[in-house]
Amino acid sequence: MPASAREFPTLAIERHADGTVELTFAVPNHRHNVLTRQVFADLAQALDALARGPRPRGVILRSGREGSFFAGADMDRLDALPTLPAAEVARLCDAGKELLARLSADWPTVAVIDGACLGGGLELALACDLRVATTAPHTSLGLPEVKLGLLPGWGGTVRLPRLIGPGPAVEFTASGEPVDGPTALRLGLVDACVPPEVAVESARRLLDVATAPGTIARRRRRLAAAVPLDPCEQEFLAATAAAVMLGRTGGRYPAPPTILETILAGTSVEAAEASRLESAAFARLAGTPVAASLLRLFRIGERNRRDPGVGEEGMAEPRPLAAPGVVGAGIMGAGIAAATLRAGFATTLVDVNPDALAASVPGILEEAAWSRLTKRSDPAAALELAGRLQASTCLAALAGCDLVVESVLERTDLKQQVLADLERAVAPDAIIATNTSTNPIAKLAEALAEPGRFCGMHFFNPVRRMVLVEVIRGPATTDATVAAVVAHAKRLGKCPVVVRDSPGFLVNRVLMPYLHEAVEMVREGIEPARVDRVSRGFGMPMGPIELYDMIGLDTAFYAGLVLSAAYGDRIEASPLIPAFVKAGRLGRKTGAGFYRFQGTGPKARIIGSDAETARMVARYALPPRETSDRMIADRLFLPMLLEALRVLDEGIVRDGRDVDLAVIHALGFPPFRGGLFAWADSLGAAEIVRRLAPLGDLGVRMQPTERLLAIARAGGRFTD
Ligand code: NAD
Repeated sequence: MPASAREFPTLAIERHADGTVELTFAVPNHRHNVLTRQVFADLAQALDALARGPRPRGVILRSGREGSFFAGADMDRLDALPTLPAAEVARLCDAGKELLARLSADWPTVAVIDGACLGGGLELALACDLRVATTAPHTSLGLPEVKLGLLPGWGGTVRLPRLIGPGPAVEFTASGEPVDGPTALRLGLVDACVPPEVAVESARRLLDVATAPGTIARRRRRLAAAVPLDPCEQEFLAATAAAVMLGRTGGRYPAPPTILETILAGTSVEAAEASRLESAAFARLAGTPVAASLLRLFRIGERNRRDPGVGEEGMAEPRPLAAPGVVGAGIMGAGIAAATLRAGFATTLVDVNPDALAASVPGILEEAAWSRLTKRSDPAAALELAGRLQASTCLAALAGCDLVVESVLERTDLKQQVLADLERAVAPDAIIATNTSTNPIAKLAEALAEPGRFCGMHFFNPVRRMVLVEVIRGPATTDATVAAVVAHAKRLGKCPVVVRDSPGFLVNRVLMPYLHEAVEMVREGIEPARVDRVSRGFGMPMGPIELYDMIGLDTAFYAGLVLSAAYGDRIEASPLIPAFVKAGRLGRKTGAGFYRFQGTGPKARIIGSDAETARMVARYALPPRETSDRMIADRLFLPMLLEALRVLDEGIVRDGRDVDLAVIHALGFPPFRGGLFAWADSLGAAEIVRRLAPLGDLGVRMQPTERLLAIARAGGRFTD
């Protein structure tokens, strides 16, 4: 029982009869505990109050919120960073560090970490003398600042290498990946890892040990000193870590190398000096355009998580869907079934072809049981999941489902037949969705008696990696259907974007001008490999010609027909693609497309372009044009931007921010550029109009839209 207690807005102090004090944090009006200005003010006052009273034997910091110790800094504070002068940013870091330093200045302190302990939250825990983590699955410790283009600025890069060693500290901080309690114990990040119910008692025991004479003082002295590191060791770490980072980031993200430099420089000096180096490095990173892009992306991702998909007001809670089913056990259907199984839903999968069904099951279970931590599939989990996957060749097996995603072959008549049969097989209030890539939702809805419960739910390949899901509203789709499918997609860990029914929906419509322009440039005599190199240089994970070969030229041809029928003034069906299809060069799956491959299928390796490609291209050659790398990049990405502006004009998406999320999560548009519109802002509308001028003779596809001209005239921004 506490001997005395005192409350602040975000924390409570309880003094216990044994001389220990508990500081319990509970930050109101936030989903998790986050480090707001109020938390800092309350902590400062609480420490003042403790200093004025009888000296505590030790102080325990813990959370009063289930599942979160501290999930990080308050995003409102981080958002402001790119607009502040560097000196002000460094001053803010120093002020935070000064306060945290008070946690290990007098009495021993111990943090009890149960739940998310991320970013500034982990720095707060690191500022304590000792840490106890819990074994609960919700406990995770990490420094994700790198994912926002930043580094930990409240002492993380100073304390961590002194605690776990510079090598592990670099890896932990530069990857941004969190670890669970037992891993944190193995790393030396925490001093104990115990079940949640005994965590506070454990913290008390640690304080007993810590209060033995000299123990804490010795530890504090060690953590304040430089880290003894032999110059050879230092050089080796610098070289190997820099090489790994370059491989991971292509040199596009300044935060990982800055983390490496800051940790290495900080280990060779005393902690106080290392702390100054850290503040300066943080301020430098906060001023980079990459940090501004990543912070904005984080924000729009958060907004997406809160967005019900149907307008903010007057919407009741979406109906929770609990019994999903999938029709079609091909590449996509199997991926979707694995995603629902993985998210904890018992799943029913139907395919007319018993061989296709049987062949899909092992892959589905392997994927659903994949552990991100161990990077392999857990056989015990796979066995358990097998009991939750029902596979059948009969649509009647879906009778108990409340959501069924149709993912059979991309043929309108077949899909309409399957949807009509499905409607009869499921309950009258079950939602029916289609994973079609090209069929208008309105057309497929004609097969249904009750189209209000029908919409598109368009996943991307491979489903396990691609986070985006387009939720497509047909003309009759109800708000309740959209909201339930949006909420379900989020439960699968996806990022759903609501799109109005129109050819190519959002993603394929914006992708098509990029693919189309790449082929036009190849026809003008530019080597496919050069077009791909320029695209990768821009930051795309794969060039457009490689992408053609991956999608399959037959699929691309079919999608191109749909899009050129709808947008023929700017996307003409190129004669080169059907020529490849006719020659049986369909891409990876046949071992040859634009490129020649060693082997076939997704693992096939590009050997290079071959004479046959050159001969086919020559047959459809276009007059050559200027070919600087800048011009190639402009021709690839500016038509994408123009199409995205038309998408906004037509109200295909409800918000331009959805376009940026979509291109990043479905097409791999480089996050460091922040999305199409953020990239456009980095150029400026007037510069874009200037760059389009010499391309205008290529036709409507390169001509500025009214919206672009208006933004240029007003000196406005695309992301406003
Ligand atoms: P796929 O050919 O790999 O699989 C289709 C499956 O449907 C086959 O297993 C087939 O046996 C089954 N099927 C056929 N008729 C059926 C019926 N009457 N009842 C039940 N099952 C039936 O095709 P896929 O690549 O998985 O594509 C499926 C859908 O997903 C298509 O609409 C496609 O446009 C869309 N899509 C594909 C991709 C992609 O990259 N492959 C990406 C997004 C969306």
